[in-house]
Amino acid sequence: MTNEIVRDTRVTVDLRRLKHNMQLIREMVGDDVAVMPVIKANGYGHGAVAIAPTLMECGATYLAVATLSEALDIKEAHPDYPLFILGHTPDRFLHYIVENDITQTVFSLAQVRILGDLAKKAGKTAKVHVKLDTGFHRLGCMPTPEYEEEVYQMFQVENVEVEGIFSHLALAGEAENEQQFGLFTDFTDRLKQRGCTFRYEHIADSIACVDYPQYRLNMIRPGALIYGMIGFHIGHLPVEQCLTFRTAISQLHTLEEGEGLSYDYAWKAPRKSVIATLPFGYADGYPRNMRDKGYVTIQGIKCPIVGVICMDQCMADVTDVPGVQPGMEAIVYGDGSGNTMNIQEASQLAGTNKNEIIARILERPAREYIR
Ligand SMILES: *Cc1c(COP(=O)(O)O)cnc(C)c1O
Repeated sequence: MTNEIVRDTRVTVDLRRLKHNMQLIREMVGDDVAVMPVIKANGYGHGAVAIAPTLMECGATYLAVATLSEALDIKEAHPDYPLFILGHTPDRFLHYIVENDITQTVFSLAQVRILGDLAKKAGKTAKVHVKLDTGFHRLGCMPTPEYEEEVYQMFQVENVEVEGIFSHLALAGEAENEQQFGLFTDFTDRLKQRGCTFRYEHIADSIACVDYPQYRLNMIRPGALIYGMIGFHIGHLPVEQCLTFRTAISQLHTLEEGEGLSYDYAWKAPRKSVIATLPFGYADGYPRNMRDKGYVTIQGIKCPIVGVICMDQCMADVTDVPGVQPGMEAIVYGDGSGNTMNIQEASQLAGTNKNEIIARILERPAREYIR
């Protein structure tokens, strides 16, 4: 039932565009660079399980998620897909990593030893990528001699394959990028001199892989880019937004001039107005602070959201839509064509970034896919 669309409020994902974007990325980096698309946060709102096959068909080396639970959800649907966890998994859950052949980010020898023991018992080899902190200070350790020794020791642990090493750029500026990248390559060089080689080395996200080809190494981790979110500013890649968010009018009300609506009557009709009730609210992931800024597009006309946005519903002024009727489609996020608000504009109006706008679209709106 939950997979059926029994509600007007829905997210439509154009898998043809996802494929187009992945192909552009593949062509941009060439055959020597592996692509690990990032599908954490339910594939940035697009539905991780549903988009995974398209990404694999387009040559993804791994699918990256943030957490073990995200990995297990995908594993259940696609047992054979190679999955990579970008975040930390607490020791007490590591048996799931081994049982499900998931590749785990690590930054301590102690954890690698636990993985080795578990893998040995299961007659398997656990795959890990070492996280190096080069300045972001989020996950990983700084490239000290102590950490170098620890990573060297990771290579000695039985039933563990240290398959990769990676870091994350803060993109604070060209000089800062260079410094981070330099720390990364110095560290890997030192380990290589000690006989420790990594099959994959990676540091570039969506912005870095387009703007700084010199940081692609032999793997990239694009998230936003595969969904058609443009964050780069030096390079260029004609990716297309894959997602639109639509609904339909539930009901119409006519308000006399001066009448208020929604909580606190915070909006009062400046004229006799026709108001549409729309069945989406902040529990669907629509920013509550879009009030007085957001709009939906009905019949190609921009209709401002008026009054306080409720948990499950909101209201729009549709006075200027000729022949407006209940059931008419309202586009919440379009691709920018036909007077629709695209994700870029939505993020600016809500005072956030594009990734937050799409990642916060929760499970509640049904997903439909164009193939
Ligand atoms: C989320 C994430 C990415 C992808 O970021 P985008 O900016 O969406 O490309 C890459 N690497 C890591 C470690 C991440 O957490």
